[in-house]
Amino acid sequence: MDLKNAIHECWSKIDEGHVATYIPALANVNPYQLGVCLFDVTNDHKEQAGASQVRFAVESVSKVISLLYAIDQLGLEAVSSQVGTRQTGFPFDTILNMEITGESQPLNPFVNSGAILISSLIEEQDGQSPFDQILDFSRKICNDPGITLDQEIYLSELETGDRNRSLAYYLKARGTLNNDVTTSLDTYFRQCSMMVTCESLANLGAVLANDGIAPWNSERLISSQAATYTKSVMMTTGLYTESGTYSVQIGVPTKSGVGGGLVAAAPSHCGIGIFSPALNPVGNSVAGLALLEMISRELKLDIFKY
Ligand code: GLN
Repeated sequence: MDLKNAIHECWSKIDEGHVATYIPALANVNPYQLGVCLFDVTNDHKEQAGASQVRFAVESVSKVISLLYAIDQLGLEAVSSQVGTRQTGFPFDTILNMEITGESQPLNPFVNSGAILISSLIEEQDGQSPFDQILDFSRKICNDPGITLDQEIYLSELETGDRNRSLAYYLKARGTLNNDVTTSLDTYFRQCSMMVTCESLANLGAVLANDGIAPWNSERLISSQAATYTKSVMMTTGLYTESGTYSVQIGVPTKSGVGGGLVAAAPSHCGIGIFSPALNPVGNSVAGLALLEMISRELKLDIFKY
């Protein structure tokens, strides 16, 4: 597939979105960027185009990584028993899900409350903080030793993170937070501030697509169960309230972040990383989703169709 041409065709979509401004450091990002990297796990072939090597804040795509790490450390049962797999029908930072349903657990690991809970499950180990463990794991599963924390983004997350603080305290009040509030939140703010590229996310997607085995060296990085569970949750909740819409239109498990990143995993086919920072009101990349839709159509990736 001609990825350059696909970028060209989706470029005008950028004008329909806006960069996130509620985290001030993200407001400085140039919206006119669109990049993609596609890792075909059937032949180990990687292709990229556009801003595929530009570093951007991983934001909510990190929720996939922390979920996989928590499962790796504690086992699927211990993790899945603490967080649901249901759609919230509300924005990613909602507090309503737990109030309305009367459930003590967050409805899924990809809304902020669920992700903060997942981060609270990771405990300090051999003097390594939960975040340092997530950072190491990110570098490994994204095959990208260049992933680091961006200090400016991190400080910006701290400055404007009161809603996340309220979620953490709410979880604590419900008795469901596993670590103290400060550590759990700091882990979450830091994991959101890691800088990745389209290529890092294509590698992450490729591990998920390849049943947990890194296609670049055949090492099993996560269990088959963890890969399957995570892809299912990505499909049902990875794009927040638009998950159903794109399940129909794209048909590939995908997770978004407000930094403009998307990771997609087409089972047994390919991993895809996309970056374009102009977002729609839900917080999903507009040109990024248009590009993913085009790729899915052209390469016949829709899991409900092929
Ligand atoms: N750091 C962001 C937040 O907590 C992540 C949200 C997102 O990417 N959807 O609000």
